[in-house]
Amino acid sequence: MGLNAISGRIVAIGEVMLELSGPDSEAKRLAWAGDTANTAVYLARMGVQTSYLTALGLDPYSDTIKSGLEAEGVDTRFVLRHPDRLPGLYAISTTATGERTFHYWRSQSAARDFFNLDGASPALASAASTSLLYLTGITLSIFSAEERARLVKLAATVRANGGHVAFDPNYRARGWNSPSEARTAIDSLAPHISMVLPSREDEDELFGVATTEQHIERWQTAGVDEIVLKCGAGGVFVVEDTGRMQHVPVEKLAPVIDTTGAGDSFNAAYIAARLAGASRTGGAVAGNRLASIVVGHRGSLIPRNVMREFDKFVPRSL
Ligand code: ADP
Repeated sequence: MGLNAISGRIVAIGEVMLELSGPDSEAKRLAWAGDTANTAVYLARMGVQTSYLTALGLDPYSDTIKSGLEAEGVDTRFVLRHPDRLPGLYAISTTATGERTFHYWRSQSAARDFFNLDGASPALASAASTSLLYLTGITLSIFSAEERARLVKLAATVRANGGHVAFDPNYRARGWNSPSEARTAIDSLAPHISMVLPSREDEDELFGVATTEQHIERWQTAGVDEIVLKCGAGGVFVVEDTGRMQHVPVEKLAPVIDTTGAGDSFNAAYIAARLAGASRTGGAVAGNRLASIVVGHRGSLIPRNVMREFDKFVPRSL
């Protein structure tokens, strides 16, 4: 079944955190972000019905995140509230030369306890009938092996129900005990993935430096039909449904202010374009275009008015 033949909504699952950024401790700015949440927001901005699954706390910071997601048009019906945990937090520090370092307080976050909350089962049951389930390696990394098995089961059910499973490996070494733990987790999900959107940098780090063909072949061998390999400023490689590999360069090299959220926004525009009936190459063109705007702005969620060309990119009636 083609992506454009499906109807319904997207379900994204993962962790959204508070974000502290800014040059000095007196003037830190408090915002929120998280890879899957960023993609959910960009999808919603493009008119795609998107539901976000996670857990937050009962604190005012959690309220801010939840109402922020709602203001962006994301369905938060399955944003669970943990009775005694808080959302994760990270701070970005920047050196004089502009190098960014991320510092996390997330090991006890509400999201990590998602599966132990009463609302988890109804949320997962609802997600089972989604048209497209979206998750990443970071989603897998915040859960235990047993909980990851529940996500794998969810992905299998989504596929059995005719839906799609889109996955970005988004490998962040510090989220895992070892690279092999990450590879094992990804290997268990792989048979249920219909669309994979890895970045070459992550692939090289997790699976070893290899050629574009080798990276693509590994996913093909795992049984994934739709493969989109992102190569930063080098554009992306897609395998068209004819089996031909196609390079889709970035339209114009944008001056990079901050690459945070580039991959997340790429994924959203790619998926939105595919839902609207675009070819895989067309999806990559849309992804490159949105990501090139995102790298030109600070933060993972850019102001809405600078991506106006993507408004109602996809009819809401899909
Ligand atoms: P991430 O590290 O978030 O995954 P990448 O560096 O892989 O981000 O880039 C994601 C996408 O952003 C690329 O596939 C490309 O579309 C776009 N991109 C990245 N760098 C540039 C650039 N300098 N100019 C234009 N687009 C870019």
